[in-house]
Amino acid sequence: MSEAPLRVGMFGGTFDPVHLGHLRSAVEISECLHLDKLHMIPAPQPPLRGQPQISAQDRLALLEAGVKDTPGLIADGRELRRQGPSYSTLTLAELREEYGDTARLVMVLGQDAFLRLANWHQPEQLFALAHVVVMARPGYQPDRSAALKELIGLREVDSVASMMEEPKGKLLALTLPTPMGISATHIRQRLAEHSSVRYLLPEAVEEQIHARQLYTF
Ligand code: ATP
Repeated sequence: MSEAPLRVGMFGGTFDPVHLGHLRSAVEISECLHLDKLHMIPAPQPPLRGQPQISAQDRLALLEAGVKDTPGLIADGRELRRQGPSYSTLTLAELREEYGDTARLVMVLGQDAFLRLANWHQPEQLFALAHVVVMARPGYQPDRSAALKELIGLREVDSVASMMEEPKGKLLALTLPTPMGISATHIRQRLAEHSSVRYLLPEAVEEQIHARQLYTF
């Protein structure tokens, strides 16, 4: 009997800094989709937003401290080794090459990022390489623009099982068990005004931020 295909997730972001909204979502989405691995990948040059406040190396170091030895989660610095804008299509193409044609490859993103998906670089190509799973995020409505509806077309499915019948090309919207209204913007604001960020991010991440005086300029 042949083995079940690997299930691999890609969760990209600015992670400026990584927080418990990212990490709890990563754990819950991994469980919900039965992922074998979830690559968490910081973007050195996010194409659709301003320059992050700290360097990509520092954001990766915080992500590594946050993920630590959580089973199945990988703090993956691959985009730091590439030149140019951090297009997700390039990263998915690399992962597809590594894991092969039958692997179930899933790009995971939050509702805010998903609403802008039609503006991404080569958005159709994302579906040619992977499934897309969108997680509800407190404060963001599920309203989709005409361009986003056109991009999605007939790709949407309503269960993990039907998505996982195929290696790529489907869209699934999910509400995870513990939606969290934490954002990196809020954490940066609090750090800038020397307010507490305790329990918004892992202790190891908080310690590193304070020890290295990140985000306080
Ligand atoms: P910022 O406030 O700087 O925009 P952020 O908190 O939104 O940052 P990002 O690194 O931009 O974090 O997000 C990376 C990915 O994680 C995106 O797909 C985003 O939607 C998702 N995400 C971030 N925070 C949450 C959260 N609390 N719950 C679910 N998804 C989240």
